[in-house]
Amino acid sequence: MIKLHDKYFKPFISEGEIMAAIKKIADQVAVDYKKETPIFVGVLNGAFMFVSDFLKAYPHPCEVSFVRLSSYQGLTSTGIVESLLDVPENIEGRSVIILEDIIDTGRTVKKLIDLFSNTKVKEFKIATLFYKSEVYNGEYDIDYFGMKIEDKFIVGYGLDYNELGRNLRAVYQLNQKHMINLVLFGKPGAGKGTQASFLKERYNLKHISTGDVFRYNIKNGTELGTLAKSYIDKGELVPDEVTIKMLQDEVEKNPDASGFIFDGFPRTTAQAKALDDFLVSKEMRIDATIALEANDEVLIQRLLERGKVSGRSDDQDEKMIRNRFDEYNEKTAPLKDYYDDQGKFHSVNGIGSIEDITSRLAKVIEELQAV
Ligand code: AMP
Repeated sequence: MIKLHDKYFKPFISEGEIMAAIKKIADQVAVDYKKETPIFVGVLNGAFMFVSDFLKAYPHPCEVSFVRLSSYQGLTSTGIVESLLDVPENIEGRSVIILEDIIDTGRTVKKLIDLFSNTKVKEFKIATLFYKSEVYNGEYDIDYFGMKIEDKFIVGYGLDYNELGRNLRAVYQLNQKHMINLVLFGKPGAGKGTQASFLKERYNLKHISTGDVFRYNIKNGTELGTLAKSYIDKGELVPDEVTIKMLQDEVEKNPDASGFIFDGFPRTTAQAKALDDFLVSKEMRIDATIALEANDEVLIQRLLERGKVSGRSDDQDEKMIRNRFDEYNEKTAPLKDYYDDQGKFHSVNGIGSIEDITSRLAKVIEELQAV
């Protein structure tokens, strides 16, 4: 396992496998071009290693040149491909074979085709070492590829994560296991939001509060907001389908996160199951559910105090608060058993100073990290 910036990567494709893939491409191109002297055009920065080893494996006369494109930023494609180094001169009438390290969605391919479209080359071909054929949606059929790979974020052998990792001799893939995903569990007023704001800083996690997302939508008058308001104002839960979809969208918006704190979600068994299934599909999982425990009378006082400051209408009326507790007891409390059965349920005393409670939570998290 290696660490680059804040992320861990595990071995994925060995040096030997890479060399075999390159030899396969070189042999195919050699058969097709042995009667002429093709110009290989490497796409910088990522392809520099591939170009070097490809040329060593190519048995006939050839020339080499480079273009420089840039599109990746972090772990997700920005979608914008810039050309930073122009096409080589004097390629008119020549056969050009692009050497690309990896092809995924095809945005870079499109840019390359644009770049070479008015150069009057004799032939234009594309060879890529790695090919994410499942996500490629370009019209151009890739001419040569070394190996097809799944849509995983990879580094090494020229490929980088925020500029690190290019010098690795093998290819590594992102290891999601080092993420920590937490569910903060507890009745309204237990301090989930307050604690989440400390924990997210300390452990570099993304905090998702479904209540906050609903309130944001209400404030901005969206359709989702209008729908949510009709439930929130009665102290009832918003229907599962709506909440689950919204939660998934929030996770999808943060592909670079090194973990999540789910606050106020899941609140029903259906939500917990949907969350597990969704995380599995992303090769993620919940590491722990931590409950902040406090008794109802303390919570009611806290909520009424909070209502005075925050203006949250659902915190200002004791009847509404009690209704939220009833909803909790009926629909959310059974989740304790759900997570207990998975060996993930932890309980922390939620009464005391904010710092003391943060320390209690940190202790649970640090035990998880030590595993
Ligand atoms: P909170 O800020 O977490 O106390 O949430 C405020 C209100 O938003 C709740 O009383 C519910 O009406 C709604 N809500 C928040 N999260 C959920 C959820 N996971 N499922 C259903 N409703 C939710």
